[in-house]
Amino acid sequence: MATATAVYKNFINGKWVDGQAGELQVLNPANQDEVLSRFSMVSTEQTHEALQAAQDAFQGWRRTSPPQRARIVRKALQLAEEREDQIARDMSLEAGKVLSDARGEVIKGCNLLEFYSGEGLRLIGDAAPSELGNNLLFTKREPLGAVSIITPWNFPWAIPCWKIAPALVAGNSVVFKPASFTPLSAYHLAKCFEDAGLPPGVLNLVVGSGRKVGNELIHADKVCGISFTGSNEVGKQIEQAAMETGKKLCCELGGKNPCVVMADADLDSALAGVLKGAFGASGQRCTATSRLIVEESIADEFAARVAEGANALKVGPGINDDVDMGPVIDQSQLDTVLGFIESGNKDGFKLLAGGERVTENGMDKGFFVRPTVFDHVDQNSYLAQEEVFGPVLSIIRAKNYEEAIEMSNNTKYGLSSSIYTRDINQAMKFSDDIEAGMVHINSPTLGGEAQVPFGGIKASGIGDREMAKEGLHFFTELKTVFLDYTGGARKSNIY
Ligand code: NAP
Ligand code: MG
Repeated sequence: MATATAVYKNFINGKWVDGQAGELQVLNPANQDEVLSRFSMVSTEQTHEALQAAQDAFQGWRRTSPPQRARIVRKALQLAEEREDQIARDMSLEAGKVLSDARGEVIKGCNLLEFYSGEGLRLIGDAAPSELGNNLLFTKREPLGAVSIITPWNFPWAIPCWKIAPALVAGNSVVFKPASFTPLSAYHLAKCFEDAGLPPGVLNLVVGSGRKVGNELIHADKVCGISFTGSNEVGKQIEQAAMETGKKLCCELGGKNPCVVMADADLDSALAGVLKGAFGASGQRCTATSRLIVEESIADEFAARVAEGANALKVGPGINDDVDMGPVIDQSQLDTVLGFIESGNKDGFKLLAGGERVTENGMDKGFFVRPTVFDHVDQNSYLAQEEVFGPVLSIIRAKNYEEAIEMSNNTKYGLSSSIYTRDINQAMKFSDDIEAGMVHINSPTLGGEAQVPFGGIKASGIGDREMAKEGLHFFTELKTVFLDYTGGARKSNIY
């Protein structure tokens, strides 16, 4: 077994400290014989030290002017850009994603740092006319306090960037718990902020399990807000805890995103979009295309092309140049994905591609699944209703647009969606009719950009949108100020 020697530490109150709760070994999802990194994990006591450090640092940080806070984010951005290659390689290995996707994610995170560093100059309130003369009413945006940021492994760089940057620019202090599969990406981000000159305690990185460290971070009295991205199961627990303890909460959760392909679409472009949406990042994106809803008249031909495209994808370690699709993250995810495949087979859906684990060429040491396509899937089946979070696409056939939209909305989720059509009227109607936070027209269900809100409705999210101004606003409270400058000559009794 290849062993990484250095043991990474936790960043608490501006110092890198050994955790006192044992060691986390991060194994390569493409080859479990390889230890990628070793991290010492924090104890409960150390988690509370990190929270205390955040609380202590808050008063100084909130009084640092927003443009000055933003300048530190801009400096961290410069450092991240210089370190792009290392960050992307480490991320490709620990998350299993192909290197080009990892590079794209570093850039995406940098776009978010860039956007929010600009927002430091735009932390603007409103002024309102008063009922009274010589009175001014205005609002200010103020930070919440110490906030907990808990993130998943599938976007281990971009998601922390889109939460931590607005939290800091708004004046909050942060305790950041990354997913246990991907702590090295988190380490790189914390290091960029340290090297950018962030004052001690303003950002703290704690490594440890969700059940222990995460649990402390959602219940502790010192925490004023929680920003979480991850599974619905954990999101529900956090919602409960936040309600009981009165903390502000933002959760981005799962999806079951439909891609509708109409008969009049540019089918080459639709095919490319479906393959990318379903099998990019091995389907482990919250915005992955999970259901292909295709108009019946072209369904046979289009399904055959999707299957051909899926079969042509090269599966292997994401760090290798010629690979199209990497492994899934761990044994439990592999079992889940194979369980969905089994359910599709049991339900009698037509398996057009994949349907099995990949074990050749040493891939039995990792968690590889062949890109899988089921046709004639029943829209109400387990396979069509639950989030797979793996490379499995369900094809559902619709008679026409009306049926396609009904099928698209037949889900508890509402994160992303897409439609391929040349009919602009139908595309715009889809953007009205679809129950989802995001709509893509003639492009895959994937992606977001820093300057526009990201997030879902129904079971896909709780609270405000992330990214853009909305993402910044979550980390603030509005204060309304009434300023009387009559010099004591106020005549009215309106209060
Ligand atoms: P997860 O199991 O819910 O874990 C997410 C984070 O929560 C990890 O840091 C995890 O720590 C921590 N955690 C686990 N149990 C916890 C608890 N009881 N209390 C507090 N924290 C806890 O999710 P995942 O498997 O990493 O990510 C996959 C899920 O995320 C999918 O459902 C996907 O759709 C969703 N996702 C959503 C979006 C979006 O923006 N909507 C984006 C990406 C992913 P450990 O790693 O130590 O367990
Ligand atoms: Mg998990």
